[in-house]
This record gives sequence, structure tokens and C-alpha cells, in this order.
Amino acid sequence: MDVVTHWRAGERWTGSGDRLGDVYDPATGQVARQVALASAGDVEAVVSVAAEAGREWAAASLSRRTAVLFSFREVLARRRSEVAAAITAEHGKVLDDALGEVQRGLEVVEFACGAPHLLKGGFSDGVSTGVDVYSLRQPLGVVGVVSPFNFPAMVPLWFVPVAIACGNAVVLKPSEKDPSASLLLAEMWAEAGLPAGVFSVLQGDKVAVDGLLTHPDVKAVSFVGSTPVARYVYETGTAHGKRVQALGGAKNHMVVLPDADLEAAADAAVSAGFGSAGERCMAISALVCVDPVADALVPLIASRMAALVTGDGRRGCDMGPLVTGEHRAKVTSYVEAGVAAGASLVVDGREVVPTGEPGGFWLGPTLFDRVEPGMSVYDEEIFGPVLSVVRVATYDDALALVNANLYGNGTAIFTHDGGAARRFQREVEVGMVGINVPIPVPMAYYSFGGWKSSLFGDTHAHGTEGVHFFTRGKVVTSRWPSPDAPRAGVDLGFPQHE
Ligand code: NAD
Repeated sequence: MDVVTHWRAGERWTGSGDRLGDVYDPATGQVARQVALASAGDVEAVVSVAAEAGREWAAASLSRRTAVLFSFREVLARRRSEVAAAITAEHGKVLDDALGEVQRGLEVVEFACGAPHLLKGGFSDGVSTGVDVYSLRQPLGVVGVVSPFNFPAMVPLWFVPVAIACGNAVVLKPSEKDPSASLLLAEMWAEAGLPAGVFSVLQGDKVAVDGLLTHPDVKAVSFVGSTPVARYVYETGTAHGKRVQALGGAKNHMVVLPDADLEAAADAAVSAGFGSAGERCMAISALVCVDPVADALVPLIASRMAALVTGDGRRGCDMGPLVTGEHRAKVTSYVEAGVAAGASLVVDGREVVPTGEPGGFWLGPTLFDRVEPGMSVYDEEIFGPVLSVVRVATYDDALALVNANLYGNGTAIFTHDGGAARRFQREVEVGMVGINVPIPVPMAYYSFGGWKSSLFGDTHAHGTEGVHFFTRGKVVTSRWPSPDAPRAGVDLGFPQHE
């Protein structure tokens, strides 16, 4: 059986090879290949190569670095369908969705192509007599990127191009559930002319992550995954002196006010609730209907759901399988818990008839009405195709519900009332807000990140915050007196401007 290897020193590398994990085809339920799981020794071997390569890359000129970025952009654009096929084969999302994921990653590469402008410092001429002050941003060295299963290309691409453009060496630790896209990206960096060792892939699990979090040569870690692991990564990494940005889980609410266009709101709720089988950190999982919206909106949503085809993502369906059998069992257990807690099950995805092999990890779109806080189907992140309608009496009740939630990744409001929308975007305690837009993923030149338990650390991904995360600021104060200027002489006072 094929083994997905690490990538070290510009080529595939098997490492110690003492532990392997299974990688499934979620649409058949079969083990399709295996993946190497790094040992502590493998971490050392990869980081030491990265550290050496990183020293040279940090010294490479901005034009040389940018030329590689531009070239990588072309290679990725040309080979995007290969990446999308690898994603669908291991994650299960439908091909169009996988292509969309690559496109959003490509946009970050394009942003990183602007590195010369992004890394420009400031200069103040003559702050004192003969004295100028200027600022630099310098690379950190080796940085780790740890990514989740749900975006095997896009999430690595949120960080890797920016880190590389800033002059760092990157070690990517992909999800062990869908590791193949990472090797395609590695091949493409090599094809684009990136020197060997500047980008490495360390396949594996907690052993690999812990190795990166504690290695003295790894200066920063960007993590994306579930909240408990994000919290652990943040605490462990910072305790070892690293800069860490750890993006965690989500429970995204979409608020619908009575004046909203309900047809548009129904389209949005179905798209954002069931796209990628709900396995998106920006998926809508709680639909907050301000009275009397739900009475009209729930049937509109249910009728759209009846038209969705669940099946093998390679066969032109609307929604693919869940990523593993274990994950499907977990999501199904939330459906059972919702029924037991008294929520009203409007559409039961457990009864789906998929267009695909019977062994696939299928669960169809599921809709609950009359869900309330206190039910696990509302309180917890499900990360599957389960949409819960929560009925509230007023706008204030809706806002209070969103703000009381543990998570603060994304949210949306649907309304025709500009004043209400403006009030919502100011008052809601969430990092990314959509107004009549259900999945408000910021463009690459803005920064992506949530609030509260959806992000640990201070900086968001990509945009200027990404550039700041992957560089250290330095301010230089220089004195070049005129040849005829008198010497200042000894002065024990604190320096003051003249
Ligand atoms: P996960 O937390 O299980 O795994 C994420 C990464 O951490 C993987 O590379 C995994 O190998 C590693 N990991 C897992 N357990 C670990 C441990 N105990 N110690 C160290 N490393 C560990 O997440 P997942 O299931 O792959 O992805 C889904 C989660 O990611 C969801 O919670 C989703 O909301 C979140 N997510 C968040 C964002 C965001 O932007 N906030 C984006 C995508 C996904």
C-alpha cells in the first residue's frame, strides 16, 4: 500500500518509518493509503535541515523571494485540479468545493507576492540633529504550521506563502486524515524554485506537534484545529518561548430578522450549513430566527434540502461524506442527543440514500427546529451537516444568544434594515461578521480569525497581521553627523532630542 511520506531537503523522505496511520477514502469507507507518523527523531531531522536552509533564505533578496512566490502562484494555478482531486479523495468534499478551497489559498499566494511592499519599514529623517530613525521587519527563522483535516490546502496556504515571503523556513504538519495535498504543495514549491529545506512537510500526530512546540529552533507556530487542542498548543508553545497563533473551533450563528428576504436567507442557510458537509469552521450551525421568521423559513429550508444529492464528491453531487467513520458516529450521536432532548427533527440525514458506495461515511443534511441552549446539539461544535433553528422573540435576544456563546469565529445577520445591521456589526462579539453574507471569510489582504475560544493568541491569519506574525520589528536610530559638526562630548543624562 502507498505511504504518504514526509518532505525533507527538497524530496520525499520516509523518516524512521516505525509508525503508520491509515488514510481513508471517505466515499468508499476503505483504507486508500497510509501515512508516515513522525517520531521525535524525525522532527529533529526535519527541523535541522529547515534551520540551515532558513538562514540562507533569510538573507535572500526581496526580489529573489518574490520571484519564487510569483512562480509558485503560476504552478499552483496550473496544477490546481491535481490538488483538488487529492482533497476530494481523502477529505470527501465535492470537487467544485475542493477547487474553491485551492482558489482561496491561491489568493493568499497573490497577497504574499506583494512582500516588498508589505515589508517596507518607516523612515524618519532628522529626528534630532544628525539623527535618523528607521524600522525593519526581519524573519523569525523556522516556523511550524499545524493544519486541520477540513482544509488540507487552504489552511496551509493561509500561512506558508506569507511566512516564506517574509524570509522564514516553514515546517508544515498536515492533518494525518488527508495528508496527500501537502506533498503536492511541496512538489510545487520545488518546481517554483524555492531552495530545498525552506519548505518541509512533517507528517504525523501529537508526537510531531509536540516536537515542533518544544524544539528550540522553532520560533513560532501557527495552528488551526479544535479548541481543546488549540488551547493546548497555545499554552505549550508559549511556555516554550514561542510566538503562537492558535485558531480553534466555532459555532457560527446566522441571525434572520423579520424584514429579511427569506428566500435569500433560505438559500444562504442551506449553502452555509451543508457545504462541505458542515465541516467548515465558518459553516452556519445555528440559525437564530427572530419571531415570526421560523414559521416561514423552516419550510423554505426543508424544501431546498430535499433537492440536495449526497454522494461521492467525484460524481457531481452537492454534498460528500464525512471524513471518517469515527467522525460520522460522533455527528450522528449529536442527532440522537437532539431528539432525546426534545428538539424537533425536521429533516433526518440518517435516512439519506447516497449516490455512492454503501461503505462510505454518509450522513445527509439534517435540520432541527426548536433547539435551545442547554441541548448539546446547540452547545457544542458538531462539525457536520446539522443545522439547528433557535427561535427568539427579539433582536436583543438574538444578540445576547450569540454573545453568550463560547465561540466567536463567524456570524451573519440577514436583514434589509441598515441600522440593525450596523448595530449588529458593532455589538456582536465575533471576529468575522457577514451582513446578508453567510460565510464571511475575509479576503487574503484582510486577516482571518475569531474571538473568544475560537482563537488563542493576538494575531489573525494572513493580511497584514500575518506579516506581523512572521516577522520581528526592529527600530534603528543612527547618527551620521556632518563632518564639521562639533562633538557632543560625554553626557550622562538620558538621551534627549536636540
Ligand atoms: P484537531 O484539533 O483534531 O486537529 C488539528 C491538528 O492538530 C491536526 O494536525 C492534528 O494532527 C493535531 N492534533 C490533534 N490532536 C492533537 C493533540 N492532542 N496534540 C497535538 N496535536 C494534535 O482538528 P480537526 O478535527 O483536524 O479539524 C477540525 C477542527 O478545526 C474544528 O474544530 C474546526 O472548527 C477547526 N477549524 C478552525 C478553523 C479556524 O479558522 N478557526 C479553521 C478550520 C478548522
